[in-house]
Amino acid sequence: MSKIVTRFAPSPTGFLHIGNLRTALFNYLIARKSGGTFVLRLDDTDSERSKQEYIDAIQEDLDWLGLGWDRIEQQSKRLDRYAEAADRLRADGRFYECFETPTELDLKRKKQLNMGRPPVYDRAALALDDATRLRLRAEREGYWRFLLDQTRIEWEDGILGPLSIDAASVSDPVLIRADGQVLYTLASVVDDVDMGISHVVRGSDHVTNTATQIQIIEALGGTPPAFAHHSLLTGSRGEALSKRLGVLSLRDLRAQGVTPASLLSLMARLGSSQPVELRLTLDEIAEGFDLSQFGAAPTKFDAEDLWPLTRADLQARSHEAVADEIAALGVPDELAPQFWEVARENITRMPDLADWWALCRDGATPVIDPEDAEFVAEALRLLPPPPYGTTAWKDWTDAVKAATGRKGKALFMPLRKALTGQSHGPDMAALMPLLQKVPARG
Ligand code: GLU
Repeated sequence: MSKIVTRFAPSPTGFLHIGNLRTALFNYLIARKSGGTFVLRLDDTDSERSKQEYIDAIQEDLDWLGLGWDRIEQQSKRLDRYAEAADRLRADGRFYECFETPTELDLKRKKQLNMGRPPVYDRAALALDDATRLRLRAEREGYWRFLLDQTRIEWEDGILGPLSIDAASVSDPVLIRADGQVLYTLASVVDDVDMGISHVVRGSDHVTNTATQIQIIEALGGTPPAFAHHSLLTGSRGEALSKRLGVLSLRDLRAQGVTPASLLSLMARLGSSQPVELRLTLDEIAEGFDLSQFGAAPTKFDAEDLWPLTRADLQARSHEAVADEIAALGVPDELAPQFWEVARENITRMPDLADWWALCRDGATPVIDPEDAEFVAEALRLLPPPPYGTTAWKDWTDAVKAATGRKGKALFMPLRKALTGQSHGPDMAALMPLLQKVPARG
């Protein structure tokens, strides 16, 4: 089999969101699994909406996830190639110039719908005589449509199985706008052919595009790649995710403390028949990845599912792996390994570490139930000032037990709450040597 080449082709008109990640990851994993090539292609022919800021952000987000690309391509640098392809289609009679305004097209569509017909472009422009065409050209800029061959277009979809679309039910796609802008459909197929793309995985919103693109590729003398269309993500209640994209951009998730491994582990399995398990490396994620395990039904995504994975990811990290973050909090080097041992069991996200360090450094606001007030006051009188050694908790609680007669939960819980302000949390014996401040003696 020839080499597998995949691509991720975002339009740099916004930040990457969770739906983009699915597409990027699938294409990345297919290439990675087979030792193939993964191309990052920036679909930036829309010069008004494409921004360098987004190009930078896309690369930064992919870097953060560890989804490295073997090659980067940019459509705005390949306009000559698209012009050549357009010339070829024109010469072969597969391109025709149209002049209808959006309003005229809209009117046609409404008429068709009223008559119970599908709103497919009627090819009126194809029937224009030369004189009319010249007159229209003098009045306004024309735009260009691809003349579909009205046959049934068939392909074996890597996820959806055998698919076919009747080209007669689809409007001839506009490939070049009146202002000369090359549209995605043409640019994309020229690139896919030129770059030797062997597999295209994208969202199921592209199924009709695929049908027309297969014909355009063939018209350009290319061989269509293998196509697979993954289902679209919905919110946890089945609602369209797009409404919530604001909170689901990769950078927002990152800012909230979601880890790359948690995102990748979830997205590589969600919507497939395989269980979601935390995998710490892309090699492990790629190993079990199988496109044919994914279903056609919309896939529910719940950002809450990222937290248990993020938590497990953080807990699996060694002190060395987080040393920089811990140092940045101001934890003294000699306390850092112990601090990580204690805190890692008690955080969901890395930013939670700051709260634990604040507690160690400044002490907590004690929580003292009224019925324990006297007991806690007496206990605090028995607590020597920091710093504490490894036996400090045992020594103290033994002394308190001897003085008050309390034992078990009645002994330990009020002391935990007095020192940490919480009824649950780290092993107190391990926490004590980290405490720099304790409540003042009453
Ligand atoms: N730029 C297109 C998009 O973001 C790429 C689609 C494709 O994969 O061909 O929808």
